[in-house]
Amino acid sequence: MQTDKMHEECGVFGVFGHEDASTLTALGLHALQHRGQESSGIVSYDGQKFFVHRGLGLVDDIFNDTAIISKLQGPYAIGHNRYATTGETLLRNVQPLYAELSFGGFTVAHNGNLTNAMTIRDELIHRGAIFQCTSDTEVIIHLVALSKKPTVLERLVESLQSLKGAYSLICFAEGRMIGVRDPNGFRPLVLGRLNGAHILASETCALDIIGAEFVRNIEPGEMVVITPEGVQSHRPFARAASKFCIFEYIYFARPDSVIDNKSVYEMRKKIGQVLAQEAPCDVDLVVPVPDSGVPAALGYAQETGIPFELGIIRNHYVGRTFIEPTQKIRHLGVKRKHNGNRGAIEGKRIVLVDDSIVRGTTSKKIVEMMRQAGAREVHMRISSPPITHGCFYGIDTPSRKDLLASSHSIQDIADFIAVDSLAFISTDGLYRAMGEAARNTAQPQYCDACFTGDYPVELTDCLKAQQEQITLDKAC
Ligand code: AMP
Repeated sequence: MQTDKMHEECGVFGVFGHEDASTLTALGLHALQHRGQESSGIVSYDGQKFFVHRGLGLVDDIFNDTAIISKLQGPYAIGHNRYATTGETLLRNVQPLYAELSFGGFTVAHNGNLTNAMTIRDELIHRGAIFQCTSDTEVIIHLVALSKKPTVLERLVESLQSLKGAYSLICFAEGRMIGVRDPNGFRPLVLGRLNGAHILASETCALDIIGAEFVRNIEPGEMVVITPEGVQSHRPFARAASKFCIFEYIYFARPDSVIDNKSVYEMRKKIGQVLAQEAPCDVDLVVPVPDSGVPAALGYAQETGIPFELGIIRNHYVGRTFIEPTQKIRHLGVKRKHNGNRGAIEGKRIVLVDDSIVRGTTSKKIVEMMRQAGAREVHMRISSPPITHGCFYGIDTPSRKDLLASSHSIQDIADFIAVDSLAFISTDGLYRAMGEAARNTAQPQYCDACFTGDYPVELTDCLKAQQEQITLDKAC
């Protein structure tokens, strides 16, 4: 039986050539905490030996001791934050993964999700491979180990050519740090520079925290190889259309990051403006659902001229409600996290702006909270289209049956969360906010599968699961 999900969303960070590589990596991971709150790890290299430290919990709880950091010696380090919303939490799944291969140590940190990893894993197990964990990333290590190619780069390329899905990877082997994005570039990866050292990171906010300069994005399908001589770029994969995840702009990335020359914060405000044009509301106040709804609510307020008020106060010492393992506890999480601000909303007609409705748990509780705090009317506007399909490319969403919008109309959802009115931004509106004329239906500019069911890369494992009638954590 599979005891842990093979699907996860993550943050990756790497430093090449800095005397404080592991400290910088811990800081980078701290800035990327929103991408993974379940576990964290760092692998460093001093030119001869690898050093590994991994743990369960938040970055600051795992790397809270200078003794731990000082054991992670050397000018090279890579790190990883992992996020899984359900399933058993296994220390052996914590990345970066590390293995001793025929050519020496190989370590990898992966953000994304491989859609044929289970199929390849089964084949490898039949051939005698011994897997240590249930993470899809381990398949990469086995394929690299088994490859007959002469160099580690060729082995990695050969391995990745047989894999499908989403990967932004940072690897370290044979004295080089390697950064790769899958041909569609589902997940972000950027290159930075700090006093002669090279940095790879999921998002630019992780460059900012260490004072590194942003150099450029790693392109979809690009592999960069970093050595003391500099950064070499390779294009080992057949060209494919870019399919960056649009949900990174809506919710997942940190608002102070810049992805593909677009400020995430500005994009969220723009989405709020378009939402206001598409779904105006006759109310006294615009109230954001903190924190992720704030930029879109600002945009909504600026577009309509309706006053913006903090009608919900968030307790910052609670994790994201989404990660609570059972539905019962998840309800409690929302209460622990938010409180209605009676002084601001009593007797007022309000429009709540949030980024998404997944299961509807958060919205239902918040609407109730607003009424208890005296709001006269509660309307809701959502800065993403309805989420109707699961993500198989690295953002952990519940299985389809638990996605409220997969089986309910907008009116049903409005009734369930008990609002006076509800509207979502349209898919075309979202694309307009992103600076496109419209969604190109023949070749969408982004991956928007969670809203459209239009999956750009084959879901091999899911199709197999359907045929064999076995249940994966995410049924297709
Ligand atoms: P729910 O109560 O399930 O409807 O959760 C909705 C809230 O969860 C949204 O307001 C988002 O802020 C947040 N959210 C959306 N997608 C995710 C995700 N994949 N992981 C964690 N949180 C999410």
